[in-house]
Amino acid sequence: MDKVIIGLEIHAQLNTKTKMFCKCKVDFSSPPNSNICPTCLGLPGALPSLNEKVILYALMIAKALNCEINRKSLFHRKNYFYPDLPKGYQISQYDIPLAKEGFLKLPYSEKVVRIIRVHIEEDAGKLVHPEDIMEANYSYVDYNRAGVPLVEIVTYPDMNSPDEAVKYLEELREILIYLGVSTGNMEEGALRCDANVSIEGHNRCEVKNMNSFRSIKRALEYEINRHFELISRGEKIIQETRHFNESDGKTYSMRGKEEAEDYRYFPDPDLPPIIISEELINEAKSNIKELPNDIREKLKNFSLSENEIETLVSMNELRNFFFEVLKTFPEPRVVANFLLTDVLGTLNEKNLSKPPFSPADFGKAVSMFFSKEISSKILKRIIELLFECKNLDYIINNENILPITSKDEIRKIVLEVLKENMKVKEDYKKGKERALTFLIGQAMAKGKGRLNPEILKEVLLEELNR
Ligand SMILES: [Zn+2]
Repeated sequence: MDKVIIGLEIHAQLNTKTKMFCKCKVDFSSPPNSNICPTCLGLPGALPSLNEKVILYALMIAKALNCEINRKSLFHRKNYFYPDLPKGYQISQYDIPLAKEGFLKLPYSEKVVRIIRVHIEEDAGKLVHPEDIMEANYSYVDYNRAGVPLVEIVTYPDMNSPDEAVKYLEELREILIYLGVSTGNMEEGALRCDANVSIEGHNRCEVKNMNSFRSIKRALEYEINRHFELISRGEKIIQETRHFNESDGKTYSMRGKEEAEDYRYFPDPDLPPIIISEELINEAKSNIKELPNDIREKLKNFSLSENEIETLVSMNELRNFFFEVLKTFPEPRVVANFLLTDVLGTLNEKNLSKPPFSPADFGKAVSMFFSKEISSKILKRIIELLFECKNLDYIINNENILPITSKDEIRKIVLEVLKENMKVKEDYKKGKERALTFLIGQAMAKGKGRLNPEILKEVLLEELNR
């Protein structure tokens, strides 16, 4: 079968406090056009001045993606007209990007996706279309987003299936979140993905407007099938840009593919070259704490499944909780058993990101199960009670939940049961084995399941054979 070839271009919004070339706030909860100034509106005479955090964040990304840093890079103007671009050009990077030639290794796979370049550029504003778009003859424009910093990450066409493309994007998103430089939220547009798709030996198409992992998979699958169908009919694939339509799952031709010449790129005369010092590179490196792969390596020692590891990799607060629990009760396998089933289930139900109880309480409860002091049923009940914001001491002292192991207490219950079931006692004496099971059941019910079964049987036999 002919080989599928996919390359991705990712735009990630950096979560700096202010915009890339002015002091306007980056805040998408503000009313439309409230975070704007002459610079990000492109008014005459306004001059850009670079936010240094943008460089630092972009360097962190470049380093995490194993890129080579260009010690001197340039800002270029990319010229085109669109109503969301007030200046008539976007400040971007062209022939000398901030960084180049990196790679990202996909987890649980031998696959390495090579990175062509990492560069910085400013975002455009946002067009807001009225709901009755067919009737209305206008659109709104909101410039709060104009000038917000973006990092663009371009890969080589190294992915060979929609699944690989999604895996790459998931891992890249995780890295951005670990670095703390972007929210990675695709639904809110903080992470955007365009894909170049082709079948080996044929023209490629660029697919845009994929707003979730699911839509990326659907769009790529649709587009690949479309190419195969055209090829099988002997038709030529037209190189073009296509728009993915979420509602019918198809891609539609938007326009012929632009070439770089169309944008009349030239160096921005208002901005000096970006010079990267050794200190800044070191600062970027030291800002990189742990990456998803470091966490995976740590978790691999705990005999957890791939699914369990990925749950902990992606849920920061739950993972921190897990490591805190291990400090008081270092049995990762058994901690994970209850944390990733009962606790996680309830977190999802209640829409919480981390347990409302202390790691130490949870660790103590799991350790009681581990040392066979309590059954898994009692542990599960304790977890429920912990979620009701009770602490473990309170639960143990007030909830009558712990097993009864005292022979005297158990004997009291056994005697009551025997008194109420004189006939069954006689049956047992006549040799009916099943009578014993019945009496144990009665005693367990009376003790609300808390009686230690071995001691119960022992005491019951003592009383029956007396
Ligand atoms: Zn501004």
